Parts: sequence; structure tokens; C-alpha cells
Amino acid sequence: MEQEKKVALITGGGSGIGFGIAEKFIEKGMQTLLVARDEEKLKAACAQLGASCHYKTCDLADLKTIPALIQNILSEYGRIDVLVNNAGINMKKDFTEVTDEDFQKIITVNLCSVFSISREVVKDMIRLKSGSIINISSMAAQYGLPRVIAYSASKSAIEGMTRAMASELSPHGIRINCIAPGFIETAMTAKALNDDPPRKAKALGRTPMGKMGKPADIGAAAAFFASDESAYITGTVLCVDGGNAIGF
Ligand code: NAP
Repeated sequence: MEQEKKVALITGGGSGIGFGIAEKFIEKGMQTLLVARDEEKLKAACAQLGASCHYKTCDLADLKTIPALIQNILSEYGRIDVLVNNAGINMKKDFTEVTDEDFQKIITVNLCSVFSISREVVKDMIRLKSGSIINISSMAAQYGLPRVIAYSASKSAIEGMTRAMASELSPHGIRINCIAPGFIETAMTAKALNDDPPRKAKALGRTPMGKMGKPADIGAAAAFFASDESAYITGTVLCVDGGNAIGF
């Protein structure tokens, strides 16, 4: 039975949006593997999510470790049907204060690791002639947000990469889609908004639904892209944002 289940890898699934996606995948009967740095957080997440949830620790900023990580997962689980590139970091700083090192750090985790891990997983998805990759973008790729220059660059690049990968990999039966969350209740949003009431008011003021989303809202969209219900959908960006991207 375990063997017949789809195998999903979620980067950064120990908390926040990744956890919300894992919860939904497990509800849908998928074997779900979380990859992040903090082992205690990952253990706690697996304990909460049950026997279909497993984890591997990895610092995705260390790009050269990624091929071995994926090999290790493939030898243990046999396949990866779904990859969710969710791990990400943010940094709020004035444009002129951002150092090259700051910029590179965000780009390495949010963009370079997404490329590296996707490349390694795609090599096996080509063998399977199927697969679904789900990239997590942001409102920072939909409109101009001040004080998050590297984050905005990384998320805009993720959307371009989603389209390029969808074009190139469709002949292999691999679909790539992107979810652009609006403001979702997680530690990352708390850090970005709680010490900045005007920014929080602005974020909510332009969200027609007038509230923040929940990790489960992103989980539901990811479950759709992971399933055959979205079999004819690739290269898209789905905003799950309470209307934030089109708000006045
Ligand atoms: P979060 O709770 O801080 O989750 C980020 C996850 O990324 C953590 O599980 C973290 O795990 C992992 N991570 C960070 N650096 C890593 C590294 N070097 N190697 C491996 N894992 C790493 O934040 P979140 O809000 O759920 O964010 C998840 C994704 O959604 C991010 O890509 C973010 O940009 C995007 N997003 C969030 C919002 C929002 O409103 N919350 C909106 C738009 C987009 P460890 O610390 O254990 O490594």
C-alpha cells in the first residue's frame, strides 16, 4: 500500500506554508517528505502529521549537497512524484543598505536551490515520464514591494523559471506550476508585518477579502497541482491571496 502512494518532497515543510501543504498531502494519502535545517522542528512536524510523514535535514544554501540528498531520497523511496519548492527566506532592508552578501544569500536559498533541486528531481521524473513541480512565489513578483529587493528578484525569477521549465519539460510528461501566496499567517509574515503597522494596514487594505490567508489555503492549491485534476495545466501562476494582487 505504502509503495502505491505518491511520494511528495516539500522543502521547508517543518513550519508555516510548507506544513500546511504537508497536512493536505497526507490527507490526500501521499507519502510526504520534508526537507529543512531544523531537525527538532521537522521531528515535531512529523510527530503531528503521522506515519506517512518523514524528513531529511539539509541546508539548501549548500548547493553542492543537493545531488546526494536527492540520490539518497530516491534510493530510499524509489521515486519523487511531486516536488514543492517552498523553502524561502526574506530580509527587509532599505535598498541602499543591502550588501552583495545579503543579496546573494537570499538568491542562493530562494532561487539557486530551487534550480538545483529541480534539476536533480527532473532527471528521475524524465525516467518516470511524469511529475508535478510546484514553485512557491509571492506577491513580491506581482507588484513592487519596497524594502525586499533580493526577495522580489528571487520570486520574479521563480515565475520565469516556471514558464521556461514548463515549455522544456512538457514533452517528458512533467508539469510545473507556481503558487503566489498573498499574506498568509506564518512566522515569516509575523516578522515582516508585526513590527510595521503601516505595512500591515496597507497589505490588508488592498486585500478585498480583508483578512490574511492560512497555510491550509496554499495546501489546497498545492494538492490540486499535485493531482491529476490539474493534468492539463502547466506553466501557470495561481495567486492565492484573497484578491490582493487585483485589490485597489
Ligand atoms: P517560514 O515558516 O519561515 O518557512 C520557511 C521554511 O523554509 C522553513 O520551514 C525553513 O526551515 C525553510 N528554510 C529556510 N531556509 C532554508 C535553508 N537554507 N535550507 C532548508 N530549508 C530552509 O515561512 P513561510 O511563510 O511558511 O514561507 C514559505 C514559503 O512561502 C517561502 O518561500 C516564502 O517566500 C513564501 N511566501 C510566504 C508568504 C507568507 O505570507 N507567509 C507569502 C508569499 C510567499 P528551517 O528553518 O528548518 O530550515
